[in-house]
Amino acid sequence: MKNGLNPPFEGACLCGAVQVCVAALPFLTLACHCRGCQKFSASAFSLTTMFPSESFSVTGAMITGGLKTHGRAHYFCKSCLNFIYSQIEGADHRINLRTSVLHEAAVFEPFVEVMTDEKMPWAEVPVSHSFSQSPASLDELQSLMAAYAARYHPHL
Ligand SMILES: [Zn+2]
Ligand SMILES: [Zn+2]
Repeated sequence: MKNGLNPPFEGACLCGAVQVCVAALPFLTLACHCRGCQKFSASAFSLTTMFPSESFSVTGAMITGGLKTHGRAHYFCKSCLNFIYSQIEGADHRINLRTSVLHEAAVFEPFVEVMTDEKMPWAEVPVSHSFSQSPASLDELQSLMAAYAARYHPHL
């Protein structure tokens, strides 16, 4: 992401029925190589941009999908079934927006990749921090967010 990129950031699902808007800078950008994300994204990895929940607004009819595991909600456009965002119980102050939904998706380059244990061997993502599994602790996640902020919005 370029320095000076200013919120709000807008986006839409494939069919346009779901519209999103985020009024804050991201906490973090990630690529996840897990097998679940490969299936979700029909690709080699998923792209997530993590935003403060209170900065996020969404309109349009959605349904929940995925495995419907307790504490993890995955929201999809009810019409085109495009994956929009996830929210994890206990981390209610963050939403995990699928980066591809954003109009300016290309500028939210992944800063961290996770779950490289399950990575397709040919899938290379140029990131600053790489994890074989998920970051082990909340402290580790918070230090990644601090490193992300220092790199992408150092003037805050
Ligand atoms: Zn749609
Ligand atoms: Zn994943």
